[in-house]
Amino acid sequence: MSVLIVGSTALDSIKTPKAENPRLLGGSASHAAFAASFFAPVRLVGVVGDDFPKAYLALYKKHKINLEGLQIASGKTFHWSGEYEVNMNNRRTLATELGVFETFSPHLPDSYKNSEFVLLANIAPGLQHHVLDQMRRPKLVVADTMDLWLNIALPDLLKLLPRVDGFVLNESEARQLTQEDNLFSAAKKIRAMGPKFVIIKKGEHGAILSSRQGIFLAPAYPLEKVVDPTGAGDSFVGGMMGYLAGAPGPFEKNLRKAMIYGSIVASYCCEGFGVTATIRATRAGIEKRLRKLEELTKF
Ligand code: AMP
Repeated sequence: MSVLIVGSTALDSIKTPKAENPRLLGGSASHAAFAASFFAPVRLVGVVGDDFPKAYLALYKKHKINLEGLQIASGKTFHWSGEYEVNMNNRRTLATELGVFETFSPHLPDSYKNSEFVLLANIAPGLQHHVLDQMRRPKLVVADTMDLWLNIALPDLLKLLPRVDGFVLNESEARQLTQEDNLFSAAKKIRAMGPKFVIIKKGEHGAILSSRQGIFLAPAYPLEKVVDPTGAGDSFVGGMMGYLAGAPGPFEKNLRKAMIYGSIVASYCCEGFGVTATIRATRAGIEKRLRKLEELTKF
């Protein structure tokens, strides 16, 4: 089964205490698409400008990411720049230039409309609605978000929640959305807003799943060196959706393992700038990390 992924397709300029890299291939949909591509074919929906490097288009294609839904508009590609502190958990956005995103309206090619697995990666909730409106009958819809949309598009986001099966957000966003400090209570409150399951991402401390079946705690894969964590959250959810699309049986049965695969692909993402380390990963390497994580959490 294919996974349809809509989100930002961007050029990222990233500064860490050790290095600075301009105009990397980035965006929530890009990170999620490369992560998902290890497990299932990907259909990408997004927009780039006519300044988007051809080499980046070739990279998507090399990873068998279907670009029929990627619009190339005249103008500048969405550009985001951020700077990390020595403690890489702290990041500051330096600039967000919308470029062609300002007038973007996602249009699904007919061949995408029957996709059963849909990932609404981080993008304005209005655009996430617009994609769902065009889908026939998806089996599993998962949405991700960011603090910006809680601040400027909360009504749209709240209307989206009953339309999705799963909702993924990070811990500070969960606290902001619910005014609840305890994450397990926050997850429960968010489930009452509509989604069947909620996943709260906690960066290097893993992720919490809350569903009718109960709670699951997914560890992060331990890394001694993080080069650039940009896109780790997107890689987590992309890897998870890719695994779910490729695994037989009902998604509820596969969700815990899918989160573990998500954690592992996210660990690769952190080992290089942009998608450079993610695309160097292999399925065999991913399986090796899975066994190591199993070993580390067994008792
Ligand atoms: P993460 O590290 O998981 O928060 O994701 C970082 C990615 O989000 C980067 O590749 C950015 O291009 C992308 N991004 C940053 N700001 C926005 C925004 N306002 N809308 C959509 N994507 C964004």
